[in-house]
Amino acid sequence: MPQTHRIDAERPIDLHTHSTASDGTESPAEVVRQAARAGLGTLALTDHDTMDGWVPARATARAVGVTLIPGIEFSTQIGPASVHVLGYLIDPRDEPLRAEFDAVRTSRITRAERMVELIGADYPLTWDDVRAEAADGATLGRPHIADALVRKGLATDRTAAFASILHWQGGYFVPHHAPSPLEAIRLIRGAGGVPVLAHPGSRGRRAMTPATFEGLVEAGLAGVEIGHRENSPRSRALLAELAARYDLIVTGSSDYHGRGKPNRLGENTTEPDQLIRIIDAATGSEPVYPD
Ligand code: AMP
Ligand code: FE
Ligand code: FE
Ligand code: ZN
Repeated sequence: MPQTHRIDAERPIDLHTHSTASDGTESPAEVVRQAARAGLGTLALTDHDTMDGWVPARATARAVGVTLIPGIEFSTQIGPASVHVLGYLIDPRDEPLRAEFDAVRTSRITRAERMVELIGADYPLTWDDVRAEAADGATLGRPHIADALVRKGLATDRTAAFASILHWQGGYFVPHHAPSPLEAIRLIRGAGGVPVLAHPGSRGRRAMTPATFEGLVEAGLAGVEIGHRENSPRSRALLAELAARYDLIVTGSSDYHGRGKPNRLGENTTEPDQLIRIIDAATGSEPVYPD
């Protein structure tokens, strides 16, 4: 595997970030520039339910000397609980995966329209306000509704909007179509990618029992994101146990959203040997190495 020797083991590796292709506030190129400025050697761009940021990110990564790992973060659900699955180095041409992304993204638009209708009955918020916050073709989400609420003076920041009007129990929440994590893992594997469970220990709607977890491993789950600010210390210990039991890849990452979240690039990082395991397990696409 000659490409594994090209990993920059000296500089930090951050494998979970978002751009304006989904709910980050900086363009894909700008996220890569910020990564270089922060001293990272390797960055994965993992926008929600889209690969649209890969092309602009790739050109900038080459220019600024950062290794780019093309990725995605799949929105999935178990009953009412939202579960996120990262997918690295998938084949962007894979039709079944593209079709499911399209289904999720289309449903996210209808869902956002319904939420804005409900919110608009109580607050001065319109669909145009929300559209104005999202880049063309971006995966639409509650963060864009949050930005519109902030611009209208109805919330101080995204965090406040999520704690009130946009909370899933806040009275305005509408779900969108999402596959089960099992389906997402199979789709990512089918596209030659490497599925890693994102922030499994984050609070909120809990769904991850050890039995559920075992099912995901049987379906092809390759790794778990343990280093993430939303994973509680207790959940990290449990996840480390599970990772050892099933010989899973272990990652740590920032989940950077630009100004959309307090998360800073490189606040959690992944060990080079774990990144090499990801690259070795992938057949869908390759890292983009600096020239
Ligand atoms: P959605 O998938 O549209 O339901 O929105 C969930 C997204 O909102 C997640 O991907 C997070 O990035 C973002 N999010 C969740 N909670 C917060 C928060 N408190 N502050 C900022 N962004 C958040
Ligand atoms: Fe997000
Ligand atoms: Fe997530
Ligand atoms: Zn994320």
